[in-house]
Amino acid sequence: MRNDLPKHQGLRNELVKLLIAKGIRNPEVLKAISKVPRHLFLDSSFEEYAYQNQAFPIAAGQTISHPLTVATQSELLQLKSTDKVLEIGTGSGYQASVLCEMGVKVYTIERQKELFDITSKLLVNLGYRLSMKFGDGFAGLPTFAPFEKIIVTAGAPFIPQQLVEQLALNGRMVIPVGDGSQVMKLVTKDSTGNVTIEDCGDFKFVPMLQNKEA
Ligand code: SAH
Repeated sequence: MRNDLPKHQGLRNELVKLLIAKGIRNPEVLKAISKVPRHLFLDSSFEEYAYQNQAFPIAAGQTISHPLTVATQSELLQLKSTDKVLEIGTGSGYQASVLCEMGVKVYTIERQKELFDITSKLLVNLGYRLSMKFGDGFAGLPTFAPFEKIIVTAGAPFIPQQLVEQLALNGRMVIPVGDGSQVMKLVTKDSTGNVTIEDCGDFKFVPMLQNKEA
């Protein structure tokens, strides 16, 4: 296991300053980002760049999201410590770890076995306690629904109805929708079950894969 050293903490403090300059305000989000050792989620060859605002390749042709994207999605969720949160697209586990640091109960789904295996081990080694599932995010996790919050971290072709159904009353879901590049959609469900959708800016994610597509 590689180390988390004072120099990494220094780089994280710089990253937090950058995120504040880019408009992130939620202190809980900034605190979580200042704690999660992002360099340990990347191959050691990228270690010195780990705290720059960039996406990087991880296993199975996937990427770890930009820190600003992670911060923006985390902020849009307006988390409360009692929330049960479903993440679609575990990938490196970085976003899931940021959510864990914010004190919520995290369920995360990954459809690529290779990544699921690598990341499950890493998160245990780092001491993050969450529920990781190998499966298809389009189906969500009906057994554990409803979720107060849902975060999708791959570009979805549309808003899956099953995920909307698994969102609790007064719940919020953030989901990037589109081919190539995406518009971040904030889906909110009110106390009577009415659903509203708002656009929250342009982003770029790897695609959310359907069925057995590779
Ligand atoms: N949250 C991740 C970002 C990962 S990139 C992080 O912090 O690193 C998106 C991830 O979504 C990839 O790992 C990809 O394999 C996964 N993915 C793609 N389609 C999926 C699907 N249908 N269900 C679950 N995961 C999916």
